[in-house]
Amino acid sequence: MSTFRGAIKRLSCDSKITAIFFDLDNTLIATRKADAKACSKVADLLHRDHGFSCELANETATNYLSAFRRCPDNPDMALAQWRSQLWYDVLPGTHKQLAGELYGRWLEWRYRYLAIPAEVQTMLQTLRLQYLLGIITNGPTAAQWEKIDRLALNKYFDCILVSSDLPWAKPDRNIFYAACHYLGVPPGQCVMIGDKLETDIQGGIEANLGATVWLPLPSEQRLVGDRTMDDVPEHVRPDAIVDSVLKFPALLPPSTSFRARTPSASSVSLQEQKTTRNRAAQYNRFLPEIPDLYSSYSSSSSGYSSNECSQHSIGSNHGSSS
Ligand SMILES: [Mg+2]
Repeated sequence: MSTFRGAIKRLSCDSKITAIFFDLDNTLIATRKADAKACSKVADLLHRDHGFSCELANETATNYLSAFRRCPDNPDMALAQWRSQLWYDVLPGTHKQLAGELYGRWLEWRYRYLAIPAEVQTMLQTLRLQYLLGIITNGPTAAQWEKIDRLALNKYFDCILVSSDLPWAKPDRNIFYAACHYLGVPPGQCVMIGDKLETDIQGGIEANLGATVWLPLPSEQRLVGDRTMDDVPEHVRPDAIVDSVLKFPALLPPSTSFRARTPSASSVSLQEQKTTRNRAAQYNRFLPEIPDLYSSYSSSSSGYSSNECSQHSIGSNHGSSS
């Protein structure tokens, strides 16, 4: 495995790291772990307060978790309605009336466990003094923005892109170029960190970002279908691997500039304008310019033709985020 500092050295001498793109689920926030813990709490509740045997309580909660991960969002109904329906479906006939209550308790526990730890908040605030920060996340709009809003992530980032708001999802390089476009930085000055080789790392490499960092899930959290190095094309090799997002800043090169951000009303306003939610309508107007966006960032060293880039269209698979 090459090191991240090695990747930095391979950049041309006038390149520097200007922006950092984070994946959301299982990178910035422990989605998979939090959802499982919240379901475990619901199982305890079913056993303690509603007379379920331990086995039935665990089976009910596990079935919900499986159904939720399979389909975290239904675009035809509100999130609360869909998730209550999932609880309704997994409850035995004698206890269907508990669906709404269980959803509420599960949601409360979910966000308790998803909360950004203080040390990660500090890391983001510190990085943002020097770098532009972005989130690039695959997933359904309502489900992803619920997490972003409830965890108040807007305040840490200059750009937040949710794939379902856009015509592209990772690994399509255009979603990385969209983030570069928003922030006004070339791809070679950006770093992507994420937990999925086939989206975060492959996409970052194919977009010719300056470097990619892989944060693999611990073995106890892996699911069937999670990719390993053996499952992805040979060119999908991250520049570094870390076992905690907190170890990421130490990989960055020594500071060469200090942006000296000062929080102010105007900067908060600017930050809010750079989320896709607030700019979705504007962004859609950029669609006719996709080929220009691509060609302006594509380099001959990427080894890919522009035709490959245009294969992704509206309605492409945005994937599950969990
Ligand atoms: Mg992820």
